[in-house]
This record gives sequence, C-alpha cells and structure tokens, in this order.
Amino acid sequence: MQTLPRLNFAHLPTPIESLPRISAVLPNIKLLVKRDDQTGLALGGNKTRKLEFLLADAQAKGARLLITAGALQSNHCRQTAAAAARMGFDCTLVLVGEPPAAASANLLLDQLLGAKIIWASQERRDAALQEAFDAARERDARPYLIPYGGSNTTGAAAYVFAMQEFMAQNAPADWIVFASSSGGTQAGMALGARLFGFKGQVLGISVDEPQTVLQERVAGLATATAAALGENMTFKPGDILVNAAYTGGGYGVMGQPETEAIQLFARKEGLLLDPVYTGRAAAGLLDLAHKGFFKPGASVLFWHTGGAPALFAERYQGKLG
Ligand SMILES: *Cc1c(COP(=O)(O)O)cnc(C)c1O
Repeated sequence: MQTLPRLNFAHLPTPIESLPRISAVLPNIKLLVKRDDQTGLALGGNKTRKLEFLLADAQAKGARLLITAGALQSNHCRQTAAAAARMGFDCTLVLVGEPPAAASANLLLDQLLGAKIIWASQERRDAALQEAFDAARERDARPYLIPYGGSNTTGAAAYVFAMQEFMAQNAPADWIVFASSSGGTQAGMALGARLFGFKGQVLGISVDEPQTVLQERVAGLATATAAALGENMTFKPGDILVNAAYTGGGYGVMGQPETEAIQLFARKEGLLLDPVYTGRAAAGLLDLAHKGFFKPGASVLFWHTGGAPALFAERYQGKLG
C-alpha cells in the first residue's frame, strides 16, 4: 500500500477502554470504546484524523486558505478551523442557517478559532461554497476546498490508517459500531478492515441517510480511496453494513432514544456522547444489543467519533438533566 502525505497534530493512538458498567446492563455482550473523541485538537473528533491528510495536501498545493461547509453546529467545521489555526492557514466556513443572536458550542468555537463565516440556506450551500472558493481564487488568496465532512479519498484514507492503528492495539472486537453520515469514516474503515484482515464486522449506524444511499456512497468512496492508495479493490454497496433504522426525527433532532443513550453513557461510565451523531449511534447499538442482534458473548467496540461540544448548543439546553 502506498502512503499519502500527512501532518501530525492528532493525539494518536487513541485509547481503547472497556465499559464494564454499561456491559453489565446489556444482555451478554462486552462493550468497548475507542476514543476518537480524544484526538486532541480543539476538543477532538474523527475529522482531526482526516484533516492530517487534507492539510498535508493543502500545504503541498501551496494553499493559504481552507474553505469548507457544514451545519450550524458542524464538528467538521470546528475542527477545520482549529487545524487551520494550528497550521497557519486562514479559514472560511460556509454554515447552513441564519446567524443566531448568541453563538454557542461549535459556532462559538469557530469564531474563537478565527474562522470567517458565510451563512447560506441548505439549497444554496454548495453554490455558496463554490462562490467563496472562486472569489478567493480571484483575489489570489490560494484557497483549498475541503468537501462536506472531509469525505473525499484524501480524508477517507485517514480511517484506513486508523484501522491499522486499531489492529495494532489487539483489542478483541467482533463488531465495530459507529455513527456514519458523509461516509468518509466508514469508507476508510471498510477498506482498512479488508487491507489489514480485520475478522469482525464494521457496522455504520446512519445518522441521516437512507440505507442504500449511504451504502452506495461508502462503497464508491472506499473503491476510490483504494485506488488513491495504489490498491485495486472494489467495494459493492452490499459489502457495506449500514443500519438506517435509527435516523429518528432527522439530522440534529435529539429524541428519546438519543437522550437515553447520552444519559446512560454519562451516568454509568462518565463518558460524554453528543446529541447529533454518537448519541444516535449508541442508541442504535443499545437497541440492537437488547434485540439480540449480537451473538452471545460478542465483543462490541463503539468507535466514538466525538461531537460532545454540541452538548452545549443552545438547541439542547435544558433537555439532558
Ligand atoms: C462527522 C461526524 C461523524 C460522521 O463521520 P462521516 O465520516 O461524515 O461519516 C460521526 N460523528 C461525529 C461526531 C462527527 O462529527
């Protein structure tokens, strides 16, 4: 396998811990967690790994300004703003929505980290991103475009190497379960699992996409990422395990299952999940465990992808006590 240029600002390897007090209330499974919420950069998360590769590419191309887009409470945007600050880039974020009266959580951090923010409607998001890029190029600001979620082959490659890191940790895991959305994390994991001979299963809990949409996206990205790493491997949608039964009220809507999962992890293990991604994925994992989806005695590793800063968003205030 070829490697790709990479910077080193994440705290790696992230630890793997067991969760005995949650395991004790689950029917005969052993639950573990891999702490990618602790990747170290401005409160961490899975995007930090992707940004090590994306910023190396940006540097190699002589860029000075990083431009990306996301939701108002995007973890990806917050980590991009932090990585830009750390590596000396300017940063422009295209966020979906209207500027709130008071910035909270990730948005507050975007501002603190010095990012310039452009607001756009959902329909105008991609056009606004392209316009910001074109305008920056026009004024010779040397922009580098990072796609939504950092999910191109460069970003997804980070999770190939994350799987290599995981395999070297020798944790017993029959299943890896995590929150999947723009698909870069899952594409990298699926490819890494194949390249490094992981014997278990990699299951993405969809945060917001229908099953077939996410399977197709991840399979395509995994195939393209393999090519970018000099490997000739093909992934079909059927090779990608996605469960889309837990998308609930839609992106960012914290319902009963998410609330209960966040409270369980906090109160049994002192572990903070988030309302958008990991709370939803953990709710799915818990439901599957209670339904007997995992075979008795299985080791299930919850790959924590971060996001806890969103706990402090205005939107969720007063809902978690
Ligand atoms: C972005 C994100 C995800 C999803 O990762 P993708 O690579 O976009 O599928 C999961 N959890 C958190 C906390 C995230 O910020």
